[in-house]
Amino acid sequence: MKSELIISGSCIGCGACVKICIRGHLAVGEDRRAREIDSPYYCFRCGHCESVCPKNAITLRGFEDEVQSPTILPPVQASSLAELYRYRRSQRWFDRSCTEDEIRSLISSIRYAPTAENSQAVEFAVIQERFDDFMRHCADILREGGHDHPRIGQFIDYVDGGMEGKNNPFTWEGRQILIAFSKVSTDAVIAMEELDLMATAMGQGGFHSRWILLASEDDPERFMSFFPEISEGLMAYAVFIIGHPRQKYRRTVPRNERRLVMM
Ligand code: SF4
Ligand code: SF4
Repeated sequence: MKSELIISGSCIGCGACVKICIRGHLAVGEDRRAREIDSPYYCFRCGHCESVCPKNAITLRGFEDEVQSPTILPPVQASSLAELYRYRRSQRWFDRSCTEDEIRSLISSIRYAPTAENSQAVEFAVIQERFDDFMRHCADILREGGHDHPRIGQFIDYVDGGMEGKNNPFTWEGRQILIAFSKVSTDAVIAMEELDLMATAMGQGGFHSRWILLASEDDPERFMSFFPEISEGLMAYAVFIIGHPRQKYRRTVPRNERRLVMM
């Protein structure tokens, strides 16, 4: 059995970690100490046992030097979060791109985004220096997709015309494209949405690109050939054009209530 945890001598055998573990990976022995046990399911390093332990006796192996914070109260009030949702707008007009430090800080902030089976298998690419190459790559794929949406035709014409002019029909003034790759589509989508909100809170912003994602859907293998450094088995499931917005919005705008069916 592979040991995933370090359980210290401060354990009092209360059993809270055993109860919270959905993988049956823990037990309290006759010595009143928690220990890892073989179970049909492997420990997926969710960290719930570490989080509930009243004695801080459990540490995920590999994170021994990382100090964890108390989580008794949510650090953001619901009203503040709701206001952030209302405040956030898609941004297509930019003063400048983000710095590498800003991008790294955003990526680091969303390391807590949930993933299926806690795989944490979400990787990102930032396209900036090879922006024009990537536009040509997307246009070549979409050209063969036989789409009849006018926006796609407009984009292909823009690329074929040498990308002259200010507004790229897919990225507008954006010159920095963030792409999230994962095995399960929701992993990338959740991570990118968390990143979007964090960017908003940090004064950056952007918009999610449906059209670039369409190129990935049309021909995943060809699309991925642009990203040889992304791990095998991952696919692009979320695309976000990012930068420092220059458009200031003065007020929130109304939105429809979402339909809800109670069953
Ligand atoms: S929750 Fe902590 S103190 Fe309680 S049994 Fe598990 S390791 Fe020991
Ligand atoms: S990390 Fe998660 S799966 Fe592993 S022992 Fe702790 S609670 Fe169970």
